[in-house]
Amino acid sequence: MIKAKNVLAPLLYGVEASDDLLATGTIWISSDLRVLTCNGSAQALILGKNYQSKPVLDLISDAEKFGICAAGTRNAFAAMLVSGSTQFQFEMRDGRTIMARARMMGEATLVELSDVSFVVRSALSQHRDPLTGLATRVELLTRLSQAMEDTEKSAHLLYLDLDRFKAVNDTLGHPVGDALLKLVADRIGNILSAQDIIARLGGDEFAVLLAEVDHRGAAEVFATKLIDVVSRSYLAGGHLVNIGVSVGIAVIGQDGNNPDEIIKNADLALFCAKSEGRGTYRFFTSEMDRQSQERRDLEVDIRRALAMREFSLAYQPQYEISGRHLLGFEALLRWQHEVRGDVSPASFIPLAEHLGLIVPLGEWVLRTACSVAAAWPPHLSIAVNISPLQFRTEQLVSTVASALADSGLAPERLELEITEGALLEYTDTVISVLTKIKSTGVRISMDDFGTGYSSLSYLQKFPFDKIKIDQSFVRKSVTDPDSAAIVRAVSALGESLGMTTIAEGVETEEQLTQIFEQGCRQVQGFLTGRPMNAEAVSALIQQSPL
Ligand code: C2E
Ligand code: MG
Ligand code: MG
Repeated sequence: MIKAKNVLAPLLYGVEASDDLLATGTIWISSDLRVLTCNGSAQALILGKNYQSKPVLDLISDAEKFGICAAGTRNAFAAMLVSGSTQFQFEMRDGRTIMARARMMGEATLVELSDVSFVVRSALSQHRDPLTGLATRVELLTRLSQAMEDTEKSAHLLYLDLDRFKAVNDTLGHPVGDALLKLVADRIGNILSAQDIIARLGGDEFAVLLAEVDHRGAAEVFATKLIDVVSRSYLAGGHLVNIGVSVGIAVIGQDGNNPDEIIKNADLALFCAKSEGRGTYRFFTSEMDRQSQERRDLEVDIRRALAMREFSLAYQPQYEISGRHLLGFEALLRWQHEVRGDVSPASFIPLAEHLGLIVPLGEWVLRTACSVAAAWPPHLSIAVNISPLQFRTEQLVSTVASALADSGLAPERLELEITEGALLEYTDTVISVLTKIKSTGVRISMDDFGTGYSSLSYLQKFPFDKIKIDQSFVRKSVTDPDSAAIVRAVSALGESLGMTTIAEGVETEEQLTQIFEQGCRQVQGFLTGRPMNAEAVSALIQQSPL
């Protein structure tokens, strides 16, 4: 149950009297408050046909007693007639909201009754979230402007986004997702004070307006408590569910000139909290605003670059160490920007992911790489990096199939590289997608192995064909015995699991010797070949013995 204090009790969703409200019922009342006449629509309220000359307030009192209208209607009616207020609203038992308006017509009073249920309901739905009963964005905006008017206090706005909620919704279904949202609303409600407001801004996003927390330390304490409370396990729809929450905080009276700006800035702070590892909070800073402007510029540029074909692929050779045989290439995305110059994939791929542009961009990479590789000798393979986001829908299965069919590349020559991060969320979907793709003959490698979370457990979850040992271990393997031990352990593990291991980022002969001694059999790095364009690949293939 949501506590009463969060149900927006103080608000009245009144309807303004206006002539365009259709008058449905009319009652004429004499100066001594007796019914002169009324039309059919008003008879429900004044109990049938036998009304003439009866005191109107008695009739309404009876209607109240019989439960036809809500308690209090008689008194409100009396106030309208006696003290000269001109209108009021009341509820009928059948759920309708009726507005009564009184007008003096000479000696008599005309009371018009209009059904305003629809107007009231739609006003309510704009202010109250139907699922959780919390305030909506519209309501929050109103509350924020009230808070901004009070210049004495500097309230705080917290913008919340649940971590891993989408995975729950996708794997356990929407009813469980809905139940979870209600539980989250409930838990947050329980730690609020009476004057605070909690709103649901859509999906798994919430906002809390801390109306009387006017110093940073107190907001921090609250945010910490909120993260702790929301991150505890839930029993939702019979499932044990774990989620987290990230929080962005804006200070009212400081971080924005109007409610929209405050929400926007709290959202920017939230974006930083999420990109800095989630399950944490961040206060808005003006630096975040600058970065967001940069991201917007980059976004426009990425969209244009996709349309203008400013992207290209570079290919980095992979070798078998002992015989220095060329095995194939990894396709690496390149962006030559007319002003920015060469933009690193490490900087634009995360943004393309955030914007959802990685799906069309990734498809372009896949199709281009397949059609270029189809012209190479048949023993050479092509490795393509796939973003975790691309694995989250079954769509990748058909995209891969169609890229292979269109290019004529044999599936055995294609290798998809996936990072551990891809298995962190949506694990079941990702594994199902990987399994389907692997069953067509395409090989799957685990990229940047060792940089992620609980690496070994991921190797058990899916039969990868290849493990790419991350550059950081390779670089340090010469000087740092621990890194060398990791290279050795991973190579041995790969061998026993039937997976090939390849060392990435090998730059010196010394590193090459070292990783070979530790049992690694393949190499990709600047030492054996930098990423190169398609023409340079053709030249290299010409020189390479089979
Ligand atoms: P990655 O998949 O691990 O690719 C290897 C990165 O290491 C490449 O950087 C490559 O140029 C670099 N590298 C290779 N050998 C050496 C070396 O000996 N020394 C040094 N210092 N670096 C070396 P790049 O091309 O900047 O790509 C960075 C990352 O961007 C890639 O890491 C990959 O995660 C991502 N990426 C690149 N292309 C794509 C793509 O088409 N799709 C997706 N989703 N991600 C891509
Ligand atoms: Mg890679
Ligand atoms: Mg890598």
